[in-house]
Amino acid sequence: MLIDIILNIIYPPKCIFCNTIIPIQKEKGICDDCKKSLPFIKEKVCQKCGKPIDNIEERNTCFDCIKYPPIYDKGWALLVYEGIVRDMIYRFKYGGHKEYAVYLGVLMANKIKNENIKEKFDLIIPIPMHLKKKRIRGYNQSEELAKIISKQLKIPIDITILTRIKETKPQSGLSITQRKNNLKKAFKIKQNTDLKGKKILLIDDIYTTGSTINTCANILKKKGVKKVCFLSLSIGRDK
Ligand SMILES: [Zn+2]
Ligand SMILES: [Zn+2]
Repeated sequence: MLIDIILNIIYPPKCIFCNTIIPIQKEKGICDDCKKSLPFIKEKVCQKCGKPIDNIEERNTCFDCIKYPPIYDKGWALLVYEGIVRDMIYRFKYGGHKEYAVYLGVLMANKIKNENIKEKFDLIIPIPMHLKKKRIRGYNQSEELAKIISKQLKIPIDITILTRIKETKPQSGLSITQRKNNLKKAFKIKQNTDLKGKKILLIDDIYTTGSTINTCANILKKKGVKKVCFLSLSIGRDK
């Protein structure tokens, strides 16, 4: 369409990671250089949380998952949370760049497709944000990702089952125990929802110690959910 061509000239599509202009004929969202150099997770990973583990290590589980065995069943992540990935996520969350979800959601869905993950999920649920916070920010970045992933994988999304009812402090900078306390009674499951035997895929933007995913997995499992897995945009490294 002519209008698209004109728009491309006025607002040339830029790489969401490094801001370079991407030629029109190329894939949108991510430039060739970033595609090659970004810390996409493909190496040896923790069998539980999907965090990259040093190849020289004999372990197949990261230190966090050994020390605090997760309640969820399994997880995958797209990128390591460092460098320009961290900067991009900051813009995605706080800089009003809601549209990043379109590119990131496709990359995340491809992770499930390409890695031949056979699990059949019944439902996709984004990690909820408190309503007040969502109103201020204008959107919940995890929900924006989940909408795209849901379309790509043809799995229904539900944003009403799991809600955040407590305004929690930011988790960064807190110890594992403080994180757990911070999240106590933070989430709620909608009454009269039949979740028995369901397999759920949770969507989040940053996985660090797993406190948030575990808290959600815990209340979902109490309602009879059979399996809780997660797909995160980014994850920390094994310490
Ligand atoms: Zn780039
Ligand atoms: Zn792990």
